[in-house]
Amino acid sequence: MAAIDIAGVSTTYPNGVRAVDGLDLRVADGELFALLGPSGCGKTTLLRTIAGLEPAAEGSVTIGSRDVTRLPPGARGVAMVFQDYALFPHMTVAENVGYPLRVRRAPREVQRSTAERVASGLSLSELLDRRPGQLSGGQQQRAALARALAVEADVLLLDEPLSNLDARLRLEARTFLKRLQHDLGLTTVFVTHDQAEALALADRIAVMEAGRVRQLGTPREVFQRPSDTFVANFIGSTPMNLLDAVVRDGHVECAGARLARVPHLASGTGVIVGVRPEYLRVDEHGITGRVSIVENLGVTSLVTLECAGGALVSLTVPEQDEPALGRSMAVTAAPGRLLLYAAEDGRLLD
Ligand code: ATP
Repeated sequence: MAAIDIAGVSTTYPNGVRAVDGLDLRVADGELFALLGPSGCGKTTLLRTIAGLEPAAEGSVTIGSRDVTRLPPGARGVAMVFQDYALFPHMTVAENVGYPLRVRRAPREVQRSTAERVASGLSLSELLDRRPGQLSGGQQQRAALARALAVEADVLLLDEPLSNLDARLRLEARTFLKRLQHDLGLTTVFVTHDQAEALALADRIAVMEAGRVRQLGTPREVFQRPSDTFVANFIGSTPMNLLDAVVRDGHVECAGARLARVPHLASGTGVIVGVRPEYLRVDEHGITGRVSIVENLGVTSLVTLECAGGALVSLTVPEQDEPALGRSMAVTAAPGRLLLYAAEDGRLLD
C-alpha cells in the first residue's frame, strides 16, 4: 500500500505543449481517486507521468516513501490499465494475465497459479483458455484488470477503464471495480471525462483544466459547492443554472426577482447566481418565466423557463407535475442551495 505525492509536477511534450502545469496532488493510501476534466486537460498525461511513461520536466513523484521521479515504469510498483485494454490478441486470458510474471521470469506454475487466483477473484475462471477476440467488452476489461492485479503493485492506474462498455455493462463494471478496489485497499487513480462516473466511484475527485487542478474534493463537495463556474458547468448530469445578476440594496437581483440577502456586497456588484435544477422549487416570489421546453428524464422532467431579459432557467419536477408549454411559473432556490460566483472571474463567493 502506498500514498502518491505529486509535488510541483510539469510535463512537457517535445512540441512544447505543457500538458501538466506545476501540479500538486496527494492521493491517500488506499484511496480511489478520480482525475476528471474535459478532453485535452492533461488527465492522461498526469497518469502517464505517475506511471513513468512520460518524464516529469519539473517536480517530483513519490510513491509510498520512495521518490520515483527518475525511476523507469517497471521499478515504480504501479500497474496500469489502458483505455483499449491492450490485451495480446494471440494469447489466452491465462497467458495474458500471467504475462507480467513471465517477463519477470517467474516459473510457469507460478504464472498459471497466480493467473488462476486473480481470475477467480474477477469471475474469469471459466474464460482462462479463451483469446481476447472471444470475450465480450466487459470480460476483456476484467481480463486487463486481472493482468494489472497479477503484478501485485502498490498502485493501480486506470485510464478511462469503463469507456468501451455499454451503459448496462458499465454500471456492472463500476460496482465491481469499486468493490474490488475497496477489498484490496489498493491505491487507485482513474482517469475519466464522465462526471457521473467520477461522482459515483471516487472517494475524491480532482477536476482538471489546462494542466492544473481547478477543484479537489469529495464527490459531495464538488457537486454541492463547485469552487468556480468552470467546475459548476462541468459537474452534474443536468448543468447548473448560472444566471447573471446584480446586487441592489443588499439583495441579489436576478431576472426581475429579489433572491438572496447579501448585506456584505456593495450595490452594483455583478454576480453570477448558481443553482442546480434539482434545487429549484415553485414559489410565487421567485424568478418568473414561461415554460419553453419540457424534457422527460424518466422519474423527473427537466423544465426550461424563459425569463425576463431572455434568461433561461431549468428545474426538475416530478414527472407527474410536468407543466404545460407556455404556462407561467415562478421558482426559487431551496434553502441553502443558492451559490454566488464573482462575475469578473467566476470564483465562488462565501
Ligand atoms: P482526453 O480525455 O481527450 O484523453 P486528456 O485530458 O487525457 O484528454 P492529455 O491526453 O493528457 O489530455 O493531453 C493533454 C494535452 O497534451 C493536449 O493538449 C494534447 O493535445 C497534448 N498531447 C497529448 N499527447 C501528446 C503527445 N504525445 N505529443 C504532443 N502533445 C500531446
